Amino acid sequence: MKPRIGAHLPIGKGLKHTIDEAVNIGAEALQIFLRNPRGRGARELSGEEIDYFITKKEEYNINPVVVHIPYICNPAAAKEDIYAFALEVVEHDLIRCDQVQADYLVLHPGSYTTSTPEQGIERVASLLNRVLEKYTGNTMILLETMAGQGTELGRDFEELYRIIQKVEHREKVGICFDTCHTFAAGYSWSTDKKMQNLLEAMDNLFGREKVRVIHVNDSEKEQGMHRDRHAHIGQGMIGMDGFLKLLQNDFFMKLPFILETPFEGVANDINILKELRSNRGI
Ligand SMILES: [Zn+2]
Repeated sequence: MKPRIGAHLPIGKGLKHTIDEAVNIGAEALQIFLRNPRGRGARELSGEEIDYFITKKEEYNINPVVVHIPYICNPAAAKEDIYAFALEVVEHDLIRCDQVQADYLVLHPGSYTTSTPEQGIERVASLLNRVLEKYTGNTMILLETMAGQGTELGRDFEELYRIIQKVEHREKVGICFDTCHTFAAGYSWSTDKKMQNLLEAMDNLFGREKVRVIHVNDSEKEQGMHRDRHAHIGQGMIGMDGFLKLLQNDFFMKLPFILETPFEGVANDINILKELRSNRGI
């Protein structure tokens, strides 16, 4: 089994440029935004660029294709207009996921802001229920593990589990495991024993098989600090050994490893992970 190594790439120059770039830097999997990550706009995708994108991803076997919801979306928002916007974006992006044949749509569960964690969990689950009730496409929604900054939901596996428990179409919802966030949330896999505990913690709740994608980012901040600061591979507190451990693990090695490190240097991060993969001694 050879873990697939890919990256999040910008789409500012269009999907054609993005998929060409993915090929150029040797990405084996790809994540993109389908709209401006920090704004409200969503450009229409032309049939021509969609066709080019799909043909090229098949030709070069780039899979899975993952779409990420913009950062400004808050599916746990207490304010009605913000919540309504998140609902609209998730519905719209799922349609676009099917257009580009994406496998997964990744969501940050959001922040409960002025309400309580329980109310936030209720709101995210209700948003997912409203969306999934009528969605008939092939894209699976993944809730991302979060660092737990401020009122951010998803600060531990338990919170993600409690959201999933309230979702009717649970088969359409999985987990995206972000290494930086999970480490910042206090989890560790630096020894065999810790790795075993980590996997068991998931099995005791949603089950490890719910995890479909790994976001591979080193962490500028120390373990358990609840600070979300991505670093290039080997330049943070997780370190080369931490990533080697994941690449060597029977479970994690079956998942796509998708980098979300700053674009200048992401090609180098891909090479580092491929190097670690080839030296993993199995
Ligand atoms: Zn992430």
